[in-house]
Amino acid sequence: MFRSLPNVITADEMVDKAFRRASKVTVSKKRTIKLTKKTKEIQKIKISAQILEDSLSYIVNSYPNIDELPIFYLELLDVLVDKNKLKKSLGALNWAKNTIASIKKESLSEIRREKDPVMVKRSAFGRYSSVMKQISDDLDFLLESTRKLRKIPQIDSSIPTVVVAGPPNVGKSTLIRAVSTARPEIKTYPFTTKGIMVGLIKKNNERIQIIDTPGLLDRSMEKRNKIEIQAIIALKHLADLIIFMIDPTEICGYILEEQLNLLEEIIKTFDLKIIKVANKCDIVDETIADFLPISAKYGTNIGYLVGKILDNI
Ligand code: GDP
Repeated sequence: MFRSLPNVITADEMVDKAFRRASKVTVSKKRTIKLTKKTKEIQKIKISAQILEDSLSYIVNSYPNIDELPIFYLELLDVLVDKNKLKKSLGALNWAKNTIASIKKESLSEIRREKDPVMVKRSAFGRYSSVMKQISDDLDFLLESTRKLRKIPQIDSSIPTVVVAGPPNVGKSTLIRAVSTARPEIKTYPFTTKGIMVGLIKKNNERIQIIDTPGLLDRSMEKRNKIEIQAIIALKHLADLIIFMIDPTEICGYILEEQLNLLEEIIKTFDLKIIKVANKCDIVDETIADFLPISAKYGTNIGYLVGKILDNI
């Protein structure tokens, strides 16, 4: 979605590139002096405009249509960049592209009307530069936005998704590896230093995505700033089901009470069906009411859990 965004360059760099290419125009020696000079200026006007128009439309066309983004992506985009400013900047690039095309057209018709080609070219270049100067801030903003948006993970928002939540070290990633048909992929997600793990469950012609979100759904919401909360809320639009995992052995480093407090917060934040699992049942025998005992590491009850996921999605 955002990974393939092009490298945006500054207005100055774009103008330099266009004029440098135009300066390389040469014409055949066979032609008359007058024609040579005229043709050369025409070529310069055309080539520099073409480079600017192409560079601008390449950027505009590479951006997905913001109004049609799946809500998960829209929420994340909103966290990272000012959505309205982004729309405005892309609009400004479009305006610049069309204006440059008009300047080119006017300049060529002036030359046809026998105006001095060198003067016309000089004036066209001045006007191209001035248009580009007017969108300089927009290009800077897009340069910055592109850098941020590339961090948004490519997650297929069209297939059912299970999000695994729970404190660190309870065994979430072990579970994802255990239920995934192929090796889970690690993808970057804004606001977490660790990547998120995305696995895939394939069963009876169904494909279900299962993701772990380290740094996001593993600690108290109270300790979070507004932006982090919004990044979490974005997950709400992606998730169809949550698996909340605890580690009753407390080897994970959190006492049971803390783990259950986190569950209460997840319940409050997400208005979704939650399957509660108690991992590491290979170590402890006692069961906890409402929690399915599993061992992600040794496979206990994993087939049953997959069945439960399929039933609930
Ligand atoms: P995460 O931080 O929640 O993703 O936890 P990990 O999947 O990285 O697991 C944390 C530690 O718990 C690792 O050392 C795992 O090997 C161990 N672990 C995970 N599942 C089980 C289990 O079912 N039984 C036991 N005994 N250890 C487990």
